[in-house]
Amino acid sequence: MTISPTRNVGLAEAVVDLDAVAHNTAMFTERTSATVMAVVKADAFGHGAVPVAMAALSAGASWLGVATNAEALELRQNGISAPILSWIHGHDEDFRDALRLDVDLSASSIHHLTRIATAATSVGATAQVHLKVDTGLRRSGAQPDEWLNLVHHARNLEREGTLHVRGIWTHLISGVGSWAETTFAQRDLFDAAVEVAREAGLRPELRHLANSAAALHTPETEYEMLRPGIGLYGVEPDPSYVYGLRPAMTLRAHLNLVKRVPANTGVSYEHNYVTSKPSTLGLVPLGYADGVPRSAMAIGQVWFAGSRYPIAGSVTMDQFVADLGATPARIGDEIVLFGTGEHGEPTVAEWAAWTKTSPHEILTGIGQRVPRRYVGKFAEVAAIQG
Ligand SMILES: *Cc1c(COP(=O)(O)O)cnc(C)c1O
Repeated sequence: MTISPTRNVGLAEAVVDLDAVAHNTAMFTERTSATVMAVVKADAFGHGAVPVAMAALSAGASWLGVATNAEALELRQNGISAPILSWIHGHDEDFRDALRLDVDLSASSIHHLTRIATAATSVGATAQVHLKVDTGLRRSGAQPDEWLNLVHHARNLEREGTLHVRGIWTHLISGVGSWAETTFAQRDLFDAAVEVAREAGLRPELRHLANSAAALHTPETEYEMLRPGIGLYGVEPDPSYVYGLRPAMTLRAHLNLVKRVPANTGVSYEHNYVTSKPSTLGLVPLGYADGVPRSAMAIGQVWFAGSRYPIAGSVTMDQFVADLGATPARIGDEIVLFGTGEHGEPTVAEWAAWTKTSPHEILTGIGQRVPRRYVGKFAEVAAIQG
């Protein structure tokens, strides 16, 4: 006897257009001579790390960027051999597997550098390290007053042969055009830090600081490598410029139930919504556990049969209701939460604006209960591994 289904087919799905990912990747690679690292952390912003990595690599990206070593290992275990950098490491991280699988490692502190060197000695590898300097974000990266120590320490370890400093990098406070002045100040601090490293004897081949926004708007941040994330998924990183990126994910569901109700009908928990006229209510089997923000109540819209309709009342854990007005609707009809926007459907950028968050948060919040389905010419490859 077979037990099925294990995937929630028939409720909802996130359709990921890998051709859009390839198109967006090319938007970055074709305008630069720098190397492009496709940032596929957090399961490629919820799109699926392995299929997205394959699509991005085939469209001209040559590096992959991830937050954790577990994410890097997932890529390697699925046969991806492109260079990978991982940058968030636990205080007690065991780097041996990452080194065996040839993953480049970021280090912001002597603490991590020492652990990387110890692991490299233990597996007999030379670790490839990217030293990170904090130029103002105050997140990871060594503070300027720690930098000299860090580079000398790294240089000593290089002499011992346990590691090589392949890269020096930093992250911007904001890559968008209106922050250009801050970006230039960060770049100056970055240049100074690279100079200090060179004086200490390091010879980094890769300097990198640009995210999607900076890669598109501030060519002065280019150096040898760019690190686009959100742009690969088709979200314009600075809404004041439109480059023609194509949203890669469409989040759609099938109405699970439809009911006709009279005017003055309260809907969902605590009746936060009351119909103003006789209405068709469509039950959508997606809730906040699937990443639909509760704050979309009273502001979020969905796309049904060619028009937009409001979310009626509270978004609950597993479902919400859409007020479809006078439009005829049937069980199983398709409803779109966000998509490319080409036909008038909402985009992930609109959902982010409605709910006062970033498109990154909406995309990475789409839960594991929602099956991903891949379309485009890389979809077959994805189906094999998925
Ligand atoms: C997420 C991330 C990126 C990608 O940034 P986007 O704004 O999504 O392009 C680049 N670099 C680092 C260090 C990141 O954490």
